[in-house]
Amino acid sequence: MDWLDLLAVQGTFKSLFQHHSSKASILRLRAPLLAPSGTDRRIRYMISKGGSEALLQTLVDTARTASPDYVILLPLFRLLAKVGLRDKKFGQKALELEALDVTLILARKNLCHSQNLLHCLWALRVFASSVTTGAMLGINGAMELLLKVITPYTQQRTQVIRAAAEVLAALLKSSNRRAVNRSYVPGLLRLHQDWHSHDTANSFVPIRRALLLCLKHIAKLRSGREAFLAAQGMEILFSTIQNCLDDQSLEPVISTGLQILRQCYPKSPLPLVTSSSAYSFPVPGIVTSETPRVLTEEDYEDDGEEEEDKDSDSEDVKEEDDDLETDVNKLSSKPGLDRPEEELMQYKAMCLELSCSFEELESKPGDDLNSDETEYANHHHIPTAASPKGLCLNKDQISGGQEKEVPVQTSLLSRVKMGRSSVHVTSKRGPGMNSYRNVHSNGPGIGSSGSDVSDIQASFREDAWDMDAISCPRISASFSNSTKTRETAEFIDQLLQTYPKPMVFHDPYLYMAKARRTTSVADFSMMAFPDFWGHCPPLSAQPMLQRKCGVQRIKILEDVRRLIQPSDIINKVVFSLDEPWPLQDTASDCLQFFSAFESGNLRKAIQVREFEYDLLVNADVNSTQHQQWFYFKVSGMRAAVPYRFNIINCEKPNSQFNYGMQLTLYSVKEALLGRPTWVRTGYDICYYKNHYHQRTAVTGAASGKCYYTLTFAVTFPHAEDACYLAYHYPYTYSALLTHLDILEKSVNHKQVYFRQEVLCQTLGGIPVLLTTWSSSVRQRPYQVITARVHPGESNASWVMKGTLEFLVSSDPVARLLRENFIFKIIPMLNPDGVINGNHRCSLRGEDLNRQWLSPSAHLQPTIYHAKGLLHYLGSIGRSPMVFCDFHGHSQKKNVFLYGCSIKETLWQAEATVGTSNLSEDVSYRVRILPPNHRLSSLISTLFSLLTALFNRQGLQFGTGELEEMGAMFCLGLLVLELKSGSCSHQLLTRAAALLNAEEESLDVYLQR
Ligand SMILES: [Zn+2]
Repeated sequence: MDWLDLLAVQGTFKSLFQHHSSKASILRLRAPLLAPSGTDRRIRYMISKGGSEALLQTLVDTARTASPDYVILLPLFRLLAKVGLRDKKFGQKALELEALDVTLILARKNLCHSQNLLHCLWALRVFASSVTTGAMLGINGAMELLLKVITPYTQQRTQVIRAAAEVLAALLKSSNRRAVNRSYVPGLLRLHQDWHSHDTANSFVPIRRALLLCLKHIAKLRSGREAFLAAQGMEILFSTIQNCLDDQSLEPVISTGLQILRQCYPKSPLPLVTSSSAYSFPVPGIVTSETPRVLTEEDYEDDGEEEEDKDSDSEDVKEEDDDLETDVNKLSSKPGLDRPEEELMQYKAMCLELSCSFEELESKPGDDLNSDETEYANHHHIPTAASPKGLCLNKDQISGGQEKEVPVQTSLLSRVKMGRSSVHVTSKRGPGMNSYRNVHSNGPGIGSSGSDVSDIQASFREDAWDMDAISCPRISASFSNSTKTRETAEFIDQLLQTYPKPMVFHDPYLYMAKARRTTSVADFSMMAFPDFWGHCPPLSAQPMLQRKCGVQRIKILEDVRRLIQPSDIINKVVFSLDEPWPLQDTASDCLQFFSAFESGNLRKAIQVREFEYDLLVNADVNSTQHQQWFYFKVSGMRAAVPYRFNIINCEKPNSQFNYGMQLTLYSVKEALLGRPTWVRTGYDICYYKNHYHQRTAVTGAASGKCYYTLTFAVTFPHAEDACYLAYHYPYTYSALLTHLDILEKSVNHKQVYFRQEVLCQTLGGIPVLLTTWSSSVRQRPYQVITARVHPGESNASWVMKGTLEFLVSSDPVARLLRENFIFKIIPMLNPDGVINGNHRCSLRGEDLNRQWLSPSAHLQPTIYHAKGLLHYLGSIGRSPMVFCDFHGHSQKKNVFLYGCSIKETLWQAEATVGTSNLSEDVSYRVRILPPNHRLSSLISTLFSLLTALFNRQGLQFGTGELEEMGAMFCLGLLVLELKSGSCSHQLLTRAAALLNAEEESLDVYLQR
């Protein structure tokens, strides 16, 4: 401890300075405090003992003498600068002790004395960092003083100029209004230009940055931005940045300049007639009548001061937990039944497996939901030699009805380790197997809408497809033109026979039949080709896109260039759901867009430049928000041309598109060439806040809503192709119906008990399917799985697909599961949302996942009846072992679970050990829901399985991986049961033998 510490300890600082201020004491104090290191603790200690006040008082006393002694003042200023940085109340103290005035006076006196002036500036810089003192300095003329010091480019006194510019920047945080009023903006811009053009060696970057910081603080004000625009600020800064974008040493200048450009880009409304969805649907009980509100210019008046916008290049991912209830009130458990007990009896009919014998329940042909499609039953999926190894569903074995255990070549785990799932069956369509054509040509009057049929006919030439025609008319039943019907059917037949492609668990004819009966709010008349034709997972996972540094800047500059160099701007609306008249000018050279098909979402497309398009996605039906999901067709492209697309009305503040995720693309030409595959595509992808803006009056929110741009470039694989672009691998309601039917028809009903029935109808009149999977043994515990309450989370459907296929497979694990459980699965809780291209909501525009607490039978029928089924099972003492709801997650990586309170779960399950072991082996992440979560009183184990859009290992999930997760989830259910205390000895023995025989590492699971 030296003398400084001793003095501090004795509390003598103040007295020392007040009564013995002398050259000697300052000089002595200076030595230890100005030492470069090890003084931080000391300074803080000194501050706590009144050191700041002592120093400031000394400054005032010294400066107010007739001839101030600079031998004392200069070291004192250096001390003040150093101490001030660490004292949060320094500005206030300086103000109270009148040190501000004194320093300003000294600075004025020393305008020509660089050394003295510099020291004053250092002190002022610290004073100005507090808002109050900054404002006070502004009032006292500090800005005028500083602007005298900050000269145009010079190589003289640059230290002083730098300090003055930095003080000014600090002052303008609080005195920006004064600066605008005094018209400093043009002068600051001139200074910027002057320094920027002369400082070719980049020797004075800090001065240039400080000047820009001044402008940036001014640009926080609406009047400041107006002054900036009036002074040609956009043009000036644009050319500055444009010219030095590649210069690393100018990074501080570039980033500050870009921030100013983004701040000052004039805010404007989205180019939409209304912020409400383009689709509306009359639904019961809409509280606020959301009549589409036409937006007027006055809605977009700027609200003045705004939050500073960060360059999202440097932003971390903000993780949002959309799938977790965050409202604590809604988390409190609601004891008792939420409906009359007698109502529960309606669900008895959905649990026939409890009251009838298995034989009685065996489904008879013509007895299922789809009696008008029974002819389809002749169409079987026959595995071929080309089937994947470890085939689980073997037609021969199944149809033979053999009861003996089916040998499998590889275990589930080893398959997963090999990285490929093989729980598929491959089908092959031979010529003449097409029994569907007759259904169409003999069926009731069906036809196609619009001119598509003639297009199809005209274009049906093998070598020159009209890609637009391959949009696949859904064949609306309201038309009765049998000639056209036949033509269409023939066209589809010819297409399928010319390009036969065996598709796993898919059939285009069946899809078409399903799609025909799927009704949508907008009465879609077309099918999307990928859904109709089918998708084969790519052979290998695709790596994440390497994130290139600086892409966002280039994109933002291109956006700014629209304003500054508008000569190449086209701004032509080429597609719009809001305009009833046809906008598509097929003769012109622009791309054509289309989205009026199931799960489609694109509201408007505007050609901005020759190869650049602004796109707007539709809000959820009966809503003004949730724009994120997109799925649309684009055609008329040229080959080898990078097209830039900007989705300009995204809502979320950040996106995995900033971190390597790509969108998905399906090319019709590629499909016809034998590669019917959704692939990850796009480059130069980034996501950033744009200049579009909705005023408070419209949103009712505290501040005007802002929007984000997702930009990406796509070079299409072929010219004149039809390509589909989507947020993620689409999975439609019709795809689900098709899949379930094929599954039902491929299972051996002697081994697999499968039933599908209608749980309820949605608001849109769509049947919500409830499926039951088991085997012939009765009286087993239930497992309940649901998915897709959020329509934009299509990955959840792919996981569900994997779960379903695994459950009907002949994999021994699946067999064991069927024999020990009854699975009640609702694969799509929100088909209305899925069909109509919603991202999050039901047709009432509400998030169904927030309605579990008190659902209404009329407003949220899906949730009401799903919960009713759970209630019923509980009322008869058969609460499910597990209830799991599959979700997708847009902002997290990997696969993870949200679960109920483990304690509660274990208590209810009467398990003795174990917590998160269910998932350990596949690196799941487990997160615990608060106790008394919405449903936790109903069931013993509640999970939400969330699948992110891509994982951490540098790979993006493909549909294959997602389906694998579904299979792995089933294995997890078995392991969970094995770990529970109630597991029967017989099951344990069988499972242990089965699992151990396949994989020794499973020992870990079985250590109960
Ligand atoms: Zn979700």
